[in-house]
Formats: sequence, C-alpha cells, structure tokens
Amino acid sequence: MIKNVIVIGAGPTGLFASSLLLKEGFSVDLYDQKTEAGRKLLLAGKSGLNLTNNLALDSFITAYGCRQKQMKPSLTHFSQTDLRLWLNNLGVKTFVGSSGAVFPISKGAKELLSLWMKSLNSNEYFKFHPGHRLVQLEKDYIYFKTDNNVLKLKAPLLVMGLGGASYPTTGSDGTWHKILKDMDITIKPFKPMNCGFECSWSSFFKQKVNRLPLKNIKLTFQDQSIRGEFMITPYGIEGGPVYRLSREFRTEIEKNNKAIVFIDLSPDLTKGEILHRINRSPGKNSLSNHLRKQVNLSTIKISLLRELTEKSTFKDFTLLAQTIKQLPLILKSPRPIEEAISSSGGVSFNELDDYFMLKKNPGWFTAGEMVDWDAPTGGYLLQGCFSTAFRVVEGIQKL
Ligand SMILES: Cc1cc2nc3c(=O)[nH]c(=O)nc-3n(C[C@H](O)[C@H](O)[C@H](O)COP(=O)(O)OP(=O)(O)OC[C@H]3O[C@@H](n4cnc5c(N)ncnc54)[C@H](O)[C@@H]3O)c2cc1C
Repeated sequence: MIKNVIVIGAGPTGLFASSLLLKEGFSVDLYDQKTEAGRKLLLAGKSGLNLTNNLALDSFITAYGCRQKQMKPSLTHFSQTDLRLWLNNLGVKTFVGSSGAVFPISKGAKELLSLWMKSLNSNEYFKFHPGHRLVQLEKDYIYFKTDNNVLKLKAPLLVMGLGGASYPTTGSDGTWHKILKDMDITIKPFKPMNCGFECSWSSFFKQKVNRLPLKNIKLTFQDQSIRGEFMITPYGIEGGPVYRLSREFRTEIEKNNKAIVFIDLSPDLTKGEILHRINRSPGKNSLSNHLRKQVNLSTIKISLLRELTEKSTFKDFTLLAQTIKQLPLILKSPRPIEEAISSSGGVSFNELDDYFMLKKNPGWFTAGEMVDWDAPTGGYLLQGCFSTAFRVVEGIQKL
C-alpha cells in the first residue's frame, strides 16, 4: 500500500518535499492556509529571483554562519548543481551571473511556480488543499481550520515547511511558533534578517532623501567590507551590502544599542589621491562642485558627508579626505520583522535529529526557513530550503 505524507506549507520547502516524496512513491496531501501556493516565492521573483550561487561548497556554506555544521549534510546531499539540474528538468534554465549568483534565464517566479504546480498536479497521488490553516498539533494528530470547519487528521508522517515570520501577508506569519511551543518544542525567537536599518537623520536630510541610491561605495563593519550600492531612505539604509551584513549589525545593536559602520565614498581612490585632487584649485566652483568634479562624488554622497560630519571637517582637507574614505554611520535598530526579507530564529536544532525530525514526535519533520538557521540573500535562503527539504525526504525514506 502507498504510504501517505501530509505536507504543510506550500512554499519552496513544502513544494519541493512534495515533489521528492511523489518521486519516491509516496502519496502527498499538501495543505496551506493561503488560497494559492508560493506567495513569498512570487514576491521574491519581483526583485530578481536569485535561486542559488555556484560558489564552491566550502565558500558557499560560510553564509550560514554558526549553523554551517548543521546545514552541511543537507547542502552536500542536495547541492547547488543538483538544484540547477532539477530546475532544468522542470523546464527552468538558469544562468550564472556576477559573483556566482544563479538566476532563471527567461522564466520568472510566476512561470517557475506554474510549471512546478503543473508537474505536481499531474501526479494522481498528489492533492493540494488550500485555505487550510494549521491551528493545533497533538501527538500524532493535526488540526486545520477552514472557512467553516475544523478538520482533525491522523498524521503518522508529517513535513512542516511553514516559513519564517517576515512578510506575514504572504502566509509566512510565524504564528505556528505557539502551536509547536504547546508541543513542548523549543522555538528560538524570530528576529529580522536581510533588513534595513534605522539611522538618526536630521529632519532636513530626511526630507531631502526619498530613496536615493548611494552607488559605488564600500561598506565596512568590523573585519568585513562589501563593495556595491545601497539605498538611503527617510528611515535609514537598505539594500544588498546592508542585508549581507544584517546579522552582524543586529548582533552588535543587541549588545551595544548601536552599530557603527564605515562608508568609503570613493573606493577607487586612495586617501592621498583624494587629498591631491581636493587641493587642486577650485576656480569659481563651490566646495561641493569641486568635490563633485575632482573626486567624482555624487550629490547624495556630498549630502551624506555634510549630514554626518561637523562643518569644520570641510575646512581641513586632510580630515575631509580621511572622512571621504571612512565616513562613520551609526545604525540604531533593524526595521520591523514584517518588512525583512527573511527571519532568524525558529525550531531549535536541539529538537531535531540529523534528518530534521522532531525527536519528541518521530515521523514529524520540519524544514526550510522555519528552522533556526539563517543566511544572507543571494540564493542562500532558497538553496537552504531546497536542501533541507531533500534531507527530510531522505529521513522519511529511512523510517
Ligand atoms: C522580497 C523578498 C525577496 C526574496 N528574494 C530571495 C532571493 O532572491 N533568493 C533567495 O534565496 N531567497 C529570497 N527570499 C527568501 C525566500 O523567498 C524564502 O526564504 C523562502 O520562500 C522560504 O521558503 P519556505 O518554503 O521555507 O517558507 P515560505 O515560502 O515562507 O512558505 C511557508 C508557507 O507556509 C504557509 N503557512 C504558514 N503558517 C501556516 C499555518 N499555520 N497553516 C497552514 N499554512 C501555513 C504559508 O502560507 C506559506 O505558504 C526573498 C524573500 C522576500 C520576502
């Protein structure tokens, strides 16, 4: 007789677990509280879907910080190459962009999802049950609430891919933490990850900037430096390099109520070269125009420089050149978790065996963003979801 697995959560984790289980000969009932699958995946697709990264595993895995050891078996057994092959078989060809980032060639998240659902729905042993909200777990039993009913099901085999706690409108509202806590499962508190940070701008500056890009900068925090661009917003800063360092910023703010980052506004010039250029005669140019022409500083860079330094800095050119290379900016707090791209926290690894099975309830598994690992954006999140789902299915087969 065909064994049935109940999967809850129709994000990448639950969908991938479903695909693998069907391939291995299980029947799958997939439940989600939303009326359609993959809401967060669709949102991710709006800003360029970075599916994974083709860095060598040794480098790739460092993105998972203190959870590298726990993530290694999953990432080894279902690697970035495996993901690209699987996507290719689904009909989604990928390409490797700058710094190894992998994107779909022509198909966006919508097409990917549609191909994926088509493939699942073509299997007679698959059924999707939208509009079913998990409301309670009890040893071996699960309870769903629908618009007009409460459903109690026996679930000897269960996979939960309930996601994190950011962008709750997508269905990933993190309210499941209470349901699992009631089962005596330790859940590490959710925290925003890959998020913007608040700064104390003056009201003048706040009015002046309305989401302006700070291009070609180097952002340094402690021993890490990242080149690129980020956005200055009325509340503070956001964008690639900020997200990349968000775990470290947040940890520092938790310890010291603030994090001081340094911005190199002119990473292509040395301090000496900048000083040499500033010392050239400005002619009839104002100092701002002189800086723009000689050091190639954009209007927003000059405004930021003026916002964050004393007026006297502009009279001492040696100090000015130094400040252009190392402009200190204080980050006060992360933006709310609802706005974050992802969240840290979730089901503690202490509760899980090597296959992400709940030690307190054998046969029940968790995977994806709901588990207590995190990573920067850049494909590390999705790869982590796919790989942990793969590991879970390995675990189910071993039972
Ligand atoms: C704007 C944005 C851009 C992103 N860009 C990228 C990117 O480029 N690359 C990358 O790697 N990652 C990116 N991510 C992150 C990535 O989308 C997530 O890490 C990934 O979707 C997590 O997958 P998951 O299946 O674990 O959870 P989710 O995708 O969050 O899915 C969880 C599912 O569980 C369901 N659910 C939750 N609670 C219940 C309940 N009680 N009952 C029933 N169903 C429930 C939800 O409705 C949801 O469908 C981005 C995220 C955002 C918001």
